[in-house]
Amino acid sequence: MPNRKPAVGGNWKMNLHAADVDALVDGLNEQIGANNTVDTIICPPFVYLQRVAEKLAAASSNIQLGAQDIYYQANGAYTGEISASMLKDIGVSIVLTGHSERRHVLGESDTLINAKTLAALEAGLDVILCIGEKIEQRQAGQTDAINIAQLHYGLAGVTAEQMQNIIIAYEPVWAIGTGMTATPDDAQSAHDAIRKALAIMYSQDIADAVRIQYGGSCKPGNAAELFAQPDIDGGLIGGASLKTEDFAGIVNAAG
Ligand code: PEP
Repeated sequence: MPNRKPAVGGNWKMNLHAADVDALVDGLNEQIGANNTVDTIICPPFVYLQRVAEKLAAASSNIQLGAQDIYYQANGAYTGEISASMLKDIGVSIVLTGHSERRHVLGESDTLINAKTLAALEAGLDVILCIGEKIEQRQAGQTDAINIAQLHYGLAGVTAEQMQNIIIAYEPVWAIGTGMTATPDDAQSAHDAIRKALAIMYSQDIADAVRIQYGGSCKPGNAAELFAQPDIDGGLIGGASLKTEDFAGIVNAAG
């Protein structure tokens, strides 16, 4: 069994304000800032990234700073957008691409997701590439086909070497923020198919090394059972990442 270090990310989405941010980061630094058995990442809204970077540095925390989005151009007339080098400038080390809300609420295409993924990697950022099927696709038996297609589009042009800097997050769309979680067996089956696809796209060694997170209503109460599956290497957490106790509980369940 390959030895993959679990990775748990907290995606705060468009939530919290400065005072809540401070309290959450202080609590996380205290409870899990010294954890080095799990790669822990928090992804605050853009406007609080600098504030969180300073708090993580001041506490010498092991928690890594992630961004929820990125733009693929390096600079220029792209009102409202943020580049990879700007994120690096303030201490961001990893970005999300392909999150289901960016795909299905904000209308991002596979082409755009791929461009963002490549730009982040090119700039030296790590990437959590999110993939996952909608409920009607699951009901039609298309779960693996959708995941594998999103994997191919999202990773187009990503080299074998760059795969060291990629985490995949399998997030069934119907499970995100709904309280409905994939069963450990269903999640494991999807993760297994994703890993097999990576072996075909790259190599067995690369597929064995890539962390595949589960995301979708993961909570302290169900995390341990999900993370015990052989191909589930941690989680990407939305709602439960907004509460210190819950997120720390999930991180501790990972390792
Ligand atoms: C997410 O936003 O990636 C997510 C998994 O959300 P939640 O944990 O709230 O379902």
